Amino acid sequence: MSPSVVVLTGGVGGAKLALGFYDLVPKGRLSLIVNTGDDFEHLGLRICPDLDTALYTLSGRANPELGWGRANESWGFMKALAELGGENWFRLGDGDLALHVLRTQRLAAGERLSAVTAAFVRALGVRAALYPMSDDAVATMVASDDGELGFQDYFVRRCCEPRVRGLSFHGAERARLGGGAKAALAAPELAAIVIAPSNPYLSIDPILAVPGVRAALVAARAPVIAVTPIIAGKAVKGPTAKIMAELGLEPSPLAVARHYEGLIDGFVLDARDAALEARFSVPVWATDTLMTSLEDKQRVARAVLDFAARLAGGGR
Ligand code: GDP
Repeated sequence: MSPSVVVLTGGVGGAKLALGFYDLVPKGRLSLIVNTGDDFEHLGLRICPDLDTALYTLSGRANPELGWGRANESWGFMKALAELGGENWFRLGDGDLALHVLRTQRLAAGERLSAVTAAFVRALGVRAALYPMSDDAVATMVASDDGELGFQDYFVRRCCEPRVRGLSFHGAERARLGGGAKAALAAPELAAIVIAPSNPYLSIDPILAVPGVRAALVAARAPVIAVTPIIAGKAVKGPTAKIMAELGLEPSPLAVARHYEGLIDGFVLDARDAALEARFSVPVWATDTLMTSLEDKQRVARAVLDFAARLAGGGR
C-alpha cells in the first residue's frame, strides 16, 4: 500500500503545508486532523474556520487576497445584514454562508461534524480526508487582561490585541477523538505524522488536548515531525510570536520544539535559524520554510517526507 501522511493543522499556516502534501502524496493517502477549538455559533450558524480553510484550500477555492474564505466571493449578505443593524464584525461571504447554513442544518438533524465534513469533502472533489479533531464541542478560551474571552472574540473582534495570560480548551477532557482520525494515526503504512507550522498554542494545543491524541503520537511507528511557525524570531502571520512573548517564552523555534518535547521525533527549522541547530534535543532539518508559491509548499512538504524517511531509516 502506498505511504500515507497525517497532518495536524489549524488554519491558514497549516493549510499551506497541507496543500504541499496534497499533490505529493498519492490521492486519498493524505489525512488532516483539524483544530475545532475555534468553532463557534454566530447568527445561529455553526462556523468551523479551520475546517473550512482546509476545505477551501485543498479544493482550490481559497481566497488568496483575504487569506480566509472563498475566492470570487460576493458580499450581498453582509451588506444586507449591516443595513438591518445585524452584527457584522465576523465577515461571511455569500458562498461561504451556504456552507455554514448547510452544516448547521445537518448538525441540527443529528449528523456528526465528521460526517458533514466528509460530505463537503466529497461534494467539492477533495481527495484527502478531513477529520475534525473531535465531533464533541471544544472551545478555546483566552484568559487575557480583558478577562476570559471566547476565541473569535479575541481573534477577530479584538484583533488579538488583549494580552494573553493563558489558554484553556473547554470540553477537551470529555471530547472523543473520531474513529477516522484514530485509524489514520495508527495506519501501518503511515510515512509521517506532521505537526503543521500552525500556531502551537491556539491551533495545535487544542488538538493535543483531545484525550488519545498525545498517546497516538507517542505510539506511532512513523516519525512525528513538527514544522516551525517561527522564522527569525517572527511569525509569518498572526499572533504566534506575540502570544509566546506574553506567555513568557522567547519567540524562537527552540521554544516551539521544547513545547512539543516528548511528542516529536524531528523538527523542521527554517534555514534562517540554522545557527540554533546544535541546541535542539531532537534531530533537526533546516530548510527554507517560507511558503508563498505552490512550489514552495511542495518543496517544504517534500523536505518533511525526506526527513521522515531519514528518521525512519536510522531507527527512532
Ligand atoms: P490560523 O488558524 O489561520 O491563524 O493559522 P494557523 O494556526 O494554521 O497558522 C498560523 C501560523 O502559521 C503562524 O504562526 C505563522 O507563522 C505560520 N505560518 C504561516 N505561513 C507560514 C509559512 O509560509 N512558513 C512557515 N514556516 N510558517 C508559516
